[in-house]
Amino acid sequence: MTEPSIFTRILNGDIPGEIVASTGKFFALRDIAPQAPVHLLAIPKTEEYRNVVELAAGDPELLAELIAFAKQLAEDHADGDFRLVFNTGANAGQTVAHVHGHILLAA
Ligand code: AMP
Repeated sequence: MTEPSIFTRILNGDIPGEIVASTGKFFALRDIAPQAPVHLLAIPKTEEYRNVVELAAGDPELLAELIAFAKQLAEDHADGDFRLVFNTGANAGQTVAHVHGHILLAA
């Protein structure tokens, strides 16, 4: 059995992290190394998909719901406009193999 991802360990309360939102299927963390004035991570609670390509192929409805979750976060934390980045693969800078979208907000 594989180890839970760092995000799942935060969700489970095993290691500290700032969870700013949680729904039935998703949660959002404040990124520990922000690249924008507000930098959140939108994460499905399932670890089944390692990256957004796998998620799109395996459960496109869940991907659509993840984007709606990101939009809600952008409205709750800024004016609703947002950048959404999915690093996909180690050579693109992905360090956590549990699909997550970076939500980058101006304020
Ligand atoms: P990626 O490089 O796309 O896989 O994104 C992983 C992100 O997780 C990076 O932006 C890290 O700064 C962030 N990160 C790693 N550990 C933590 C943590 N304990 N709490 C919040 N964010 C984290």
